[in-house]
Amino acid sequence: MTVRAGREFLALPGPTTMPDEVLQAMHRPALDIYSQQMIDLSDGLHRDLGKLFATTGKCYIYIANGHGAWEAVLSNVLSRGDKLLVLESGRFAVGWGHAAGLMGAEVEVLKGDWRRAVRPEEVEARLRADKDHTIKAIVVAQVDTASGVQNDIEAIGKAIRASGHPALYMVDTVASLGCMPFEMDEWGIDVAMSGSQKGLMTPPGLGFVAANERAQAVHKTANMRTPYWDWSEREGTEHYRRYAGTAPVHLLFALRQAIDMLNAEGLENAFRRHELLGEAVRRAVGAWTEGQVLGFNIAEPSERSNTVTTVTVSGGHDPKKLQTYCKEKCGVVLGTGIGDLQGQAFRIAHMGHVNAPMVLGTLGVIEVGLNALRIPHGKGGLEAAASWLGDNVAA
Ligand SMILES: *Cc1c(COP(=O)(O)O)cnc(C)c1O
Repeated sequence: MTVRAGREFLALPGPTTMPDEVLQAMHRPALDIYSQQMIDLSDGLHRDLGKLFATTGKCYIYIANGHGAWEAVLSNVLSRGDKLLVLESGRFAVGWGHAAGLMGAEVEVLKGDWRRAVRPEEVEARLRADKDHTIKAIVVAQVDTASGVQNDIEAIGKAIRASGHPALYMVDTVASLGCMPFEMDEWGIDVAMSGSQKGLMTPPGLGFVAANERAQAVHKTANMRTPYWDWSEREGTEHYRRYAGTAPVHLLFALRQAIDMLNAEGLENAFRRHELLGEAVRRAVGAWTEGQVLGFNIAEPSERSNTVTTVTVSGGHDPKKLQTYCKEKCGVVLGTGIGDLQGQAFRIAHMGHVNAPMVLGTLGVIEVGLNALRIPHGKGGLEAAASWLGDNVAA
């Protein structure tokens, strides 16, 4: 017997739930890619991406996932043998660095910890020690979707500037753009990248990059450039060159709709919604931890992300069984533990197109699973989430 008829609910951190309006926006013929309508659609999206990243720098749209956008960034600003400093706080910045290594860069990982955020003072100390400026660029993820950490990108930017080091500051916002504040120009970020399928509620398949003038200057002499990713190749009067070929018309329609929905809600409201729902999840998990088996992966409460919560499972209990139960019996797909946390955690996504019933429903299903599998946990998680929302979403 199951209780899972109907639509399966994705509570894993990507791809996330897409609004029906976004799905419907794609249900139409392709555009003439040389038409004014196409140019207007595309120009509008490039402009709006600049607003989302909060930059006056140039924006690029690639037919790619996040891994593609990583490569886009690296190939445009690095030269073979350049040193890249990776700020570790989980899996994703390290993955970005891994790609750079395969492309011919020298990669140094500033050793972090899967249980905490990047420490800005450690970044500053490392940069001050690099007196000859051998480090050419620094990469970090705003939210690491594996560990569930939220890094203080503004503080890291200040630390980089305080060191006086000229390395490019490059930030992965795949699991955060549209869900929490991000101020590319104000925080001193030179390059930012993201993807369509998480906070931006759009089908997988679009990668976004924004680059300021400093990055554009480095780009001029970078020697890892290849035609598809190359920013310079995307200049020029013919609009199609911005896509190095045929534009992904339907994904652009979808993105248009998703950004319109974000703007209609108001970006600040969307950030606040993520904060409220993220805290609701944390209230529930907090109650569960009293059973001594479940725990927050991120030790420090202020470093826990508003878009994903990574819950550790100990005492010989298998998180994969919980994940399978929730999916097969109840139709809710949780994220599993990945990387260092494989087999030791599950993840609850609360990013993008999420609302109270989705989050409370997910938390309720997890409680069903914990009960069914006899995994010890403190009672009252769902109630704690509901009370917190009731106290904080004013009547
Ligand atoms: C999902 C994710 C990526 C990778 O994106 P793909 O589209 O799966 O290639 C990169 N960085 C972060 C922070 C992510 O959450």
